Amino acid sequence: MHEMSIAMSIIDIALSEAEKAGAQTIDEIEVEVGQLAAVMLESLRFCLEAAAKGTLTETATFTLINIPGHGHCLACQRDVAITEFPAQCDVCQGFGVSITAGTELKIRSISINGDNNGREE
Ligand SMILES: [Zn+2]
Repeated sequence: MHEMSIAMSIIDIALSEAEKAGAQTIDEIEVEVGQLAAVMLESLRFCLEAAAKGTLTETATFTLINIPGHGHCLACQRDVAITEFPAQCDVCQGFGVSITAGTELKIRSISINGDNNGREE
């Protein structure tokens, strides 16, 4: 279940960022998950919530942003949507496709609520 190790590293990063910023709480953690990253969104969400227990991230909202897969076909020079591997161009059916999006698995933003953070709703 590799979602759990991914979740734990996301929590680790969020905690060290929060610590650097002197945050008291973390409001929201946005994570970009590419369609081609081989991660189940619901499984990752479950693991994030489990990994967050007992830490500063426990009350955070996890927003998972699905990034659609895209590639550039080297044969016909078109940008095409890629939904699975092996990446195949849906125009010329070629397999010479360079992936340009969809393999992301990273934190986009962390909304923290620190002492010197005057953000109010
Ligand atoms: Zn093509």
